[in-house]
Amino acid sequence: MTTLIRGGHRARHRVVLLGGGYVTLHAYAGLMRHAGRAVRSGGVQVVVISTDDAHSFHGFTGEVLAGLLPYDRTRTPLVDAMPHANVILGRATAIDAEHRLVRYELADDPGERVLDYDALVVGTGGREPATAVPGLAEHGFTLRAPGDIAVLAEHVRQAATHHDRQPHTVVIAGGGMAGVEMAAALADLGGARVHVELVHSGDAILPELRDDQPGLARRAERELKRLGVRVRLGVRLASVTEDHAYLSDGTSLPASTVVGTIGQRPVQVPGLDAHRDPRGRLVTRPDLSVVDGVWAAGDAACVVHPTSGEPVPANALWAIKGGEHVGRNLARTLRGRSTKPFAYRGLGQAASFGFGRSISELYGIPFTGWLAWVLRLTFFLRFMPSRRKAAQVLGDFARHAAYGRSASGSAPVEATVADLAPARTA
Ligand SMILES: Cc1cc2nc3c(=O)[nH]c(=O)nc-3n(C[C@H](O)[C@H](O)[C@H](O)COP(=O)(O)OP(=O)(O)OC[C@H]3O[C@@H](n4cnc5c(N)ncnc54)[C@H](O)[C@@H]3O)c2cc1C
Repeated sequence: MTTLIRGGHRARHRVVLLGGGYVTLHAYAGLMRHAGRAVRSGGVQVVVISTDDAHSFHGFTGEVLAGLLPYDRTRTPLVDAMPHANVILGRATAIDAEHRLVRYELADDPGERVLDYDALVVGTGGREPATAVPGLAEHGFTLRAPGDIAVLAEHVRQAATHHDRQPHTVVIAGGGMAGVEMAAALADLGGARVHVELVHSGDAILPELRDDQPGLARRAERELKRLGVRVRLGVRLASVTEDHAYLSDGTSLPASTVVGTIGQRPVQVPGLDAHRDPRGRLVTRPDLSVVDGVWAAGDAACVVHPTSGEPVPANALWAIKGGEHVGRNLARTLRGRSTKPFAYRGLGQAASFGFGRSISELYGIPFTGWLAWVLRLTFFLRFMPSRRKAAQVLGDFARHAAYGRSASGSAPVEATVADLAPARTA
């Protein structure tokens, strides 16, 4: 068993964070805000176990694919974002909540290790169910696993700069926020050299939008049309080969790039099986604990909205707010106080269609165009885990406004996960 020793003594209280995404970053921030002294003095030890050594800010994926921002802007090393934590680059493999143990393996040494905890936060997020579509995992692209976006961005950049006679066809499966943004970004990047087909099984794109916002959906359709994206409704991606996408209506599209934004399934760390919903998400209690000593939020959890009683959407806003709340409640339990129920009610959502073009909805009020784009940018910058990266993003956009795309971000994707500096291990 691995025990982490500080100054010859195990810290009095150990908090283990599983994952390096929105939930755990904001749980850490909440904990530091309300119990930072205990962490800094060594009375509370924070350990992060994550399969990725950097936080990925997914919100700017479209801008990265469109060449507006370098990939690096969206990546913040966990050792920088959580400077008082011990970061272990590895994969959690099992949770034993009864004995408060978590099993894991290191990225560079697959032998099983065990760590005891006083409090555990599960923020392992979700992945696209790529194996549900034959051939997608082998021949297509997904966006949620570590390194996915770097690989796709480089592939698309090369395809867009390749001087073939035929336009390069990209098929995006899934017409939700992520799919629509990716379709717009790739069409924006490729111009006439890239033809984008967006395939969606529903009868309208952007099912996440509120029913009382039909204007936003219409605006999104117009933006896609402007960019030359062809939208196919009522069909799903059936299978993928090296050079074709086959659709459920029996048709096929010649395509060498197929991107699956087909929803997500939670990453399940075995254990706590009696506390999962039918989709495999950890069902949380009102204070976001799952059982005593275990907390969860974000895409891996089923968190119920405090007023509607429905599960909250799987997006970054809810992961951030859930993580913050877990951090606050962790601090309360350290001080022997009772926990508080999660009471956040939501803010809105947004999608981008290129520089200065967005739709957004804030507390039910719709915005489009520049105003929507600025609102989205303001919100994203506020929640970026690194102030330095946020300032760089602002600089990139300012340069883009002044000089156009070539000055801002269409540089090759320089870092892949393998290139990134190894995480500090505990
Ligand atoms: C392309 C794209 C664009 C998006 N755009 C937006 C947007 O504009 N607005 C918005 O609100 N949301 C957006 N989202 C959704 C948003 O990114 C997710 O809802 C959010 O990341 C969920 O946060 P999380 O902390 O639950 O999981 P994540 O942020 O995915 O973090 C999960 C972490 O767990 C790690 N992990 C996984 N398995 C293990 C394991 N077994 N052991 C240890 N670590 C593990 C992962 O490496 C990762 O570090 C987008 C998503 C994508 C893919």
